[in-house]
Amino acid sequence: MSNPNEAPKSNRVGLTFQDYRGKESTLCTGCGHDAITSHIIRAFFEYGVDPRRVIKLSGIGCSSKTPTYFMARSFGFNAVHGRMPSVATGALLANHHLKAVGISGDGDTASIGMGQFVHALRRNIPMIYIMENNGVYGLTKGQFSATADAGSKLKTGVVNELPAIDCCVLAIELGCGYVARSFAGDPKQLVPLLKGALSHKGMAFLDVLSPCVTFNNHEGSSKSYKHLKDTEELLHEVGFVPFYEPISADYPEGSVQVIELHDGSRLTLGKLEREYNPTDKMEALRRIQEARDRDEFLTGLFYVDTRQPDFTERLNVVDEPLATLAPERTRPARDVLRKIMDGLK
Ligand code: SF4
Repeated sequence: MSNPNEAPKSNRVGLTFQDYRGKESTLCTGCGHDAITSHIIRAFFEYGVDPRRVIKLSGIGCSSKTPTYFMARSFGFNAVHGRMPSVATGALLANHHLKAVGISGDGDTASIGMGQFVHALRRNIPMIYIMENNGVYGLTKGQFSATADAGSKLKTGVVNELPAIDCCVLAIELGCGYVARSFAGDPKQLVPLLKGALSHKGMAFLDVLSPCVTFNNHEGSSKSYKHLKDTEELLHEVGFVPFYEPISADYPEGSVQVIELHDGSRLTLGKLEREYNPTDKMEALRRIQEARDRDEFLTGLFYVDTRQPDFTERLNVVDEPLATLAPERTRPARDVLRKIMDGLK
């Protein structure tokens, strides 16, 4: 038990765990989204991100309510259904120094938001995009979403006949440089994956399976806690060593693959049943497909590519955020503008 007279432990920016909390959740007790919220709080606290430098974005759905439940002192914007990526693009264009975290659901991403999602991927918007995936529309009483597996059953007995859209496959195909899948009930894996995403420059996409205890946690559901626990296949054991820890950090050589991220942090991928190279796009797609054919739920860091320029680099945006640039630096001087106009006559 902690000593009540002891000061709470603070992180490298001098904040305590409490500083990363938000309001009390109003979601159903046991909802996977609340577990993800607690893992986000832990990852941001342990990494030492200042919440005042964070913008939280979301769309519509149970998952999109969750930014209220973490980092109360961050900026936030709850967009319309499926339109979170556009708002994120605008916010990051105005201030690319903010750390952006977008929370969406499978309905918000894979149906109404699909057009926005794929273009955010191909533009490499510098944000962490978390899709809290339960295979149903929880907010409207549990209809199948586009990520529901063919053959899965609703509580009413209705069977889904349509194939699932795999958003990780889409993300890899469209050049996203950090693509992972995890499970709300697996903090050991999800927290390091979130910290790795914080160190990545460009879009990091995480598909996090998050059971809906009210509408999709029964027998016959392929996104129930039981089914996911029974069928989870780990690609590797994921660890994370932040850039501010000494390079001699302790991981067993030979049995671990180390991936260096943009800020110098390192993700350590412990080898499990066989070698896996997360920088090989075709291997990533093959392993996802093979797992799907076996009805297994594969988790881990599927793909990483640290070479892609992000959206703001491609646009050659000046380092100082546009939001704080003096007006005279945001437009050409009067004589320069006159010359431009004359040239157009
Ligand atoms: Fe979570 Fe489902 Fe309840 Fe929505 S309806 S809060 S997804 S358990």
